[in-house]
Amino acid sequence: MTKHRPSLIERIAEKIGLIQDLHSVKEEPSIERLTEKPNELTNFPPIEKWDNWTEYEATEHPKKVKKNYTIVPTTCFNCESACGLTAYVDKDSNEIRKFEGNLYHPGSRGRNCAKGPATINQITDPDRILYPLKRAGKRGEGKWDRVTWDEVLDDIAGRMRKAIQEDRHNQIAYHVGRPGHEGYANRVIQAWGVDGHNSHTNICSSGARLGYNVWYGYDRPSPDHANAKFILLISAHLESGHYFNPHAQRIIEAKMKGAKLATMDPRLSNTASMSDYWMPSYPGTEAAVLLAMAKIILEEGLYNRPFLENWTNWETYLEKRHPGTPHTFENYIEKMIGEYTDYTPEMAEGESGVKAEMIRECAIKIGEAGEKFATHNWRSAASGNLGGWCVSRCLHFLNVLTGSVGTVGGTSPNSWNKFKPKFHTTPPGQKFWNNMHFPNEYPLAMFEMSFLLPHFMKEGRGKMDVYFSRVFNPVWTYPDGFSWMEAYLDEEKFGLHAAMTPTWNETAFFADYVLPMGHSAERHDLNSYATHSGMWIAFRQPVLREAARRAGKSVEFTYESNPGEVWEEDEFWIELSWRIDPDGSLGIRKHFESPYRPGEKIKIDEYYQYIFENTKGLPDAAKKEGLTELDYMKKHGAFEVEKHSYSKHEFTLSKEQLKGSVVDGKSKVIRKDGKDIGVMVDGTAYVGFPTPSRKNEFYSQTLADWNWEEYAIPTYIKSHIHNEKLDKEKGEYVLLPTFRLPTLIHSRSGNAKWLVEIANRNPIWMHPDDAQRWGFRTGDLVRLNTDIGYFIDKVWVTQGMKPGVVACSHHLGRWRRKQDEGNRWATNTVNIKNDGSGGWKMETVAGIKPFDSIDDDSKRIFWSDGGVHQNITHAVHPDPISGMHCWHQRVRIERPHDGDKYGDIFVDTNKSHENYKEWLNMTRPADQPDGLRRPYWFKRPLKPDKKAYYTTNMDKNGRVKKELD
Ligand code: SF4
Repeated sequence: MTKHRPSLIERIAEKIGLIQDLHSVKEEPSIERLTEKPNELTNFPPIEKWDNWTEYEATEHPKKVKKNYTIVPTTCFNCESACGLTAYVDKDSNEIRKFEGNLYHPGSRGRNCAKGPATINQITDPDRILYPLKRAGKRGEGKWDRVTWDEVLDDIAGRMRKAIQEDRHNQIAYHVGRPGHEGYANRVIQAWGVDGHNSHTNICSSGARLGYNVWYGYDRPSPDHANAKFILLISAHLESGHYFNPHAQRIIEAKMKGAKLATMDPRLSNTASMSDYWMPSYPGTEAAVLLAMAKIILEEGLYNRPFLENWTNWETYLEKRHPGTPHTFENYIEKMIGEYTDYTPEMAEGESGVKAEMIRECAIKIGEAGEKFATHNWRSAASGNLGGWCVSRCLHFLNVLTGSVGTVGGTSPNSWNKFKPKFHTTPPGQKFWNNMHFPNEYPLAMFEMSFLLPHFMKEGRGKMDVYFSRVFNPVWTYPDGFSWMEAYLDEEKFGLHAAMTPTWNETAFFADYVLPMGHSAERHDLNSYATHSGMWIAFRQPVLREAARRAGKSVEFTYESNPGEVWEEDEFWIELSWRIDPDGSLGIRKHFESPYRPGEKIKIDEYYQYIFENTKGLPDAAKKEGLTELDYMKKHGAFEVEKHSYSKHEFTLSKEQLKGSVVDGKSKVIRKDGKDIGVMVDGTAYVGFPTPSRKNEFYSQTLADWNWEEYAIPTYIKSHIHNEKLDKEKGEYVLLPTFRLPTLIHSRSGNAKWLVEIANRNPIWMHPDDAQRWGFRTGDLVRLNTDIGYFIDKVWVTQGMKPGVVACSHHLGRWRRKQDEGNRWATNTVNIKNDGSGGWKMETVAGIKPFDSIDDDSKRIFWSDGGVHQNITHAVHPDPISGMHCWHQRVRIERPHDGDKYGDIFVDTNKSHENYKEWLNMTRPADQPDGLRRPYWFKRPLKPDKKAYYTTNMDKNGRVKKELD
């Protein structure tokens, strides 16, 4: 690139300091300076000055008007990585004026993506919900009355108390979209004694989780991108979505040091465009490519013998798959190569379209990178396909072969980098098992089968008496949203629905209570995420409450300092739990009592003070500054618990730990008090991995035991949208709906005006060859027929899409009906008609328009197209093993019919129920002779009492029989 030569005027202006000097020759900053010494990165206010920071008011420019701020750290809630934010609170007006990064946050190190600073939009949004609301008319009618928090708490608590007293625990559920905290809500639900946790994970990451879990007992990876020599990403999801900024900055560091980046993605994403190798694979064929790479690494002898020999269960594999073969390492390698004879690069090219030569070149480079090979798969291919869980399994296979598991520059288990708080009380496992969340048909599902809830209800499997949805919007985000709408409208199915949300959404329109909960700067949460090889905690705090404290004002509840009566879940749950169990007779209240003032209600500061007092290293750090642990976190916003977290499986067991243990003669697993605690390797007692063998399991006995022996070793399963299964003559294509534009926040960008301004519509990405076949040009209408209906969108012709595949961003097409409120920056106004027998039609009656509000920007809206709601036209596709919804859809492309309009949508919910049954038939339900529902070693959010794992122990209410208690 040619350097811009400054003009004479520029040079003079730079010299006399009128403008910044950008042209003098300066020393290039080293990577270390950019990354290790945060205060040198910018002129960011040093922490000593945060209580009293002065800068010039930007809106008064060019006048130099000084403004005084108190700067309060908190964390972003606009994806899962919880980057540090600092809120600038104007000392005169007590307003939050802006958000910047927090240099002292070990994950984000002062950097944020566009969504971080846009938090200010969410806080100042004129359409936000400021007070608790109760439905006034019929459910879904759009009529609301303002009520008090006391009314809300008494009503809900009374109903929950009754359900618990009547042993109807399974009718209480908390359904969460974005949790955003470490264990708080889980502890609350477990204190209630209900098996009531439901999440969104089975439409998100549970496919990938199963693939990892069967290998090594951890369900997510944590790549050490910064130190890698080769990085392989299965799509850019994590790097341009969840961990966008913390991962992206470390990938760039690695590239600056010479690392190579490969991205397997049918779409030329931002990350793919920055890659050394873009592998536009046909969706669902990624596992075939990965197995071809594995075969090359094996054949070329590029594998890591010590890791394979010590840390995989190869003897079990030989015993089960090749009985009679002598147990030698050489035989293991030979038999492994034999398993994958068919997976040549040419075969993988035939399946995926990725050139055999590129597959070969990447495989060799991966083998050469050895222990410095970082990988990642979160959703993407693992969440799109039947058998998608095999993608993460085959990806991890490459880490196993290269021995890059838990190494510097390799890929560690996510849990090694994630902090686990110590609570002041830990409620026991619940005595209930809720079949609506973990049904018998899906014994290996990593998380709850949440997206099938309306179908389970339709079949009469159960109901919800008290149901909380929290930062959760299934009507819009999930597939088959009209089935959700039908269920929500039926009071026999959902007795009371409380939507806890910072902003209006399509699900809240069908609630009984809408309870405004704070945005990131208006609430408490403890955060810890696997952004790199270390471990940190961050403190999300209500910044105006902290500003009030600094100014000497006392605040009892967070809603007193927030706008309107916007509250936070933490304090809400404490108050609710006390009202459910006012006299302590249900055993609930004791979990919400102060650890410092026995018998009294816990205060939110006490809850966090206890955790911070019990955080390794934090008491010392606080002491050095003469602060309590809580005050340290209020001041800094984050704390580094471990700088690096490598090779934790090689931690050795102490003599004390080994006391009273026994070693299994065959497997060498070390057991103590009925629990596996480690494994002997070459005479040393190691902690190992949390699998039955305490090793990485190339052969999964668990899959074999639970009726899937054919998939006991890493395998490729052809997806439901494999080319062989599409009728191209009829115009069938695969629709890829699993990506989002990096500036969007699922269904929560609707009240962030800057983000909506950047991205507000979701056309169909189509390669020029496909467009030519149909005669489409950019902007033309297209009808996409799914298995249960259709939607009408516009075409965007782009070479950034693989030929033969079409794509549509997942996070646009937000709507409201005439009677609804909210998110006017982003929502189309729609009309919805139901024919009473399963047919639902939606049409857009108005696009986005400027509106009057206290924010003048609302008059300046220049965009009118809010996109099309595609998700609602998708059929549910539960993978029969992982339970993951397989997002990719077979679509039949057509030119629009007469009368079709942009944004038209039609769905037949009878068809969606038939489709659900079709997929249900593919399952192999739990049939263990002792009644075990699910492998006990598998993770489960909110693990119940062990007795609840056996169907034989349960009564008709889904409770462990009282005589077994
Ligand atoms: S990467 Fe995520 S947490 Fe960080 S600033 Fe962006 S949205 Fe916020």
